[in-house]
Amino acid sequence: MNTRRQFIKSTLGIGSLALGSALLLSRCKSKKKTSSASCNDVSGVSKEEQEKRKKLGYVAVTPVADSKCSTCKLYLPPAQTGDCGHCALFKGPVEAGGYCTYFAPLSEE
Ligand code: SF4
Repeated sequence: MNTRRQFIKSTLGIGSLALGSALLLSRCKSKKKTSSASCNDVSGVSKEEQEKRKKLGYVAVTPVADSKCSTCKLYLPPAQTGDCGHCALFKGPVEAGGYCTYFAPLSEE
């Protein structure tokens, strides 16, 4: 009689532990995916928009120290930390430290 109760208790305990671990792992995976998202991945962007990107001379790392997307009027900052920003001129992810030939400084009016 005692062994049946013990079996049920231990089974429920292991089940709860397994469920808790699975939930914890799934949360860790989703956070990791968000924070390591590549802002250079244009696989979901149309060829036309990719061409626009190229024509504007977009590069992920600015060659001009004081001019970068994060200080540009046309930059659309990420909605959440770890996401990529965007540009008002073309679709697709943009690095905060990127640059293109249409750079328009925030301070200029
Ligand atoms: S216009 Fe150029 S520099 Fe400005 S946010 Fe867009 S890509 Fe970056």
